[in-house]
Amino acid sequence: MRVAVVGVQGAVEEHVIATKKAMKNLGIDGEVVATRRHGVVSKSDAVIIPGGESTTISKLIFRDSIASEIIELAESGKPVMGTCAGLILLSKHGDEQVEKTKTKLLGLLDVWIKRNAFGRQRESFQVKLNVKHIGEFDAVFIRAPAITKVGERVEVLATFEDYIVAVQQDNILGLAFHPELTDDTRIHEYFLKLANP
Ligand code: GLN
Repeated sequence: MRVAVVGVQGAVEEHVIATKKAMKNLGIDGEVVATRRHGVVSKSDAVIIPGGESTTISKLIFRDSIASEIIELAESGKPVMGTCAGLILLSKHGDEQVEKTKTKLLGLLDVWIKRNAFGRQRESFQVKLNVKHIGEFDAVFIRAPAITKVGERVEVLATFEDYIVAVQQDNILGLAFHPELTDDTRIHEYFLKLANP
């Protein structure tokens, strides 16, 4: 099995390490590759879009034709996970910040996203969430987005205060927080299992 981590910017190496650890825990023989060029995602069995700055990641993946590879992979039913900025990119419906910055989205998850939803006072925080299919999970939020509304096909996996912070739409997972920044690899394991149900 080969997992690609979109490596143009942001928390890339942490996802590589967490995915390798999850593979080991599941006894999966495979490789995890960070990539910033066209041609790797299309040869992978799953892809992760990390957190970072959504405007920057968007520019680079559309410029370098990685965006179309992610869309094709998702449409072929292979697992795609976006965390934080990665969730913003997966979304179909952007907020005024997305529009103002003319950020192109992949439009794979039928959700309405709000960038920097938790305001300046709470730029970064950690909270225990109850995540469906996983259980209690220590979630790290960093200038996180949140989901305000979901379409019919989207399953809500976790909420925090008034917001939805984790969702699944078939083979696509979107998280407002950073599961790669804790030692707990259960979310990465759940993601890998989507490749071989
Ligand atoms: N605030 C960032 C954005 O809107 C996302 C933050 C993150 O990925 N940690 O792009």
